Amino acid sequence: MFNLILFGPPGAGKGTQAVKIAEKFGWKHVSTGDILRAEVSQGTPLGLKVKSVMDAGLLVSDDLLIEIMESVFVKHAAVKGFVLDGFPRTLNQAQELDKMLLKHGQEVSLVVALEVDEDELVNRLLKRAQDQGRKDDTAEVIKNRLVQYHHHTKPLIDYYTDKKLYREVYGVGTVEDIFSQLCTVINP
Ligand code: AMP
Repeated sequence: MFNLILFGPPGAGKGTQAVKIAEKFGWKHVSTGDILRAEVSQGTPLGLKVKSVMDAGLLVSDDLLIEIMESVFVKHAAVKGFVLDGFPRTLNQAQELDKMLLKHGQEVSLVVALEVDEDELVNRLLKRAQDQGRKDDTAEVIKNRLVQYHHHTKPLIDYYTDKKLYREVYGVGTVEDIFSQLCTVINP
């Protein structure tokens, strides 16, 4: 099983590329943001619990995310691979992911980051706010989401670099160009 983490700040294009990667290699795309947004829009108890945190651009608790990921893994145990998009986002999540994968005889195969500079990220997120009306794409919330990224998620670069699993792809250009560079790096 190939376990790919598609890494990068909000607005880097992880969602777009994750869908294409999953389609090309026949892997399961797992977006924790999509899972949580579905819970919110269905008004489930979990959705009600996480809505305000997501609307503010803050991170949902590690325990909840780990629980969600474990159930996804168990449910899709037969797939050839996973593309994780938006998880892990904290060091604790990364460590718990390792433990969980180990329990299932698996490990993280590769971490590929999409590199995009901060001005471009903010412009993209503001544009997405207009196009998709995502509640967490307002200027104030965007700032929070980037702060969360720098504070909690960026340290994972060292974590995966130490494990020799970390690669980067420049995330500015056409969707197809970026995709083909990603495919070259992934090469399963
Ligand atoms: P995303 O679509 O990946 O940008 O996620 C949208 C929001 O969902 C984030 O701003 C967080 O509030 C929440 N979320 C998604 N994934 C995680 C995660 N791994 N850890 C904590 N919160 C998350």
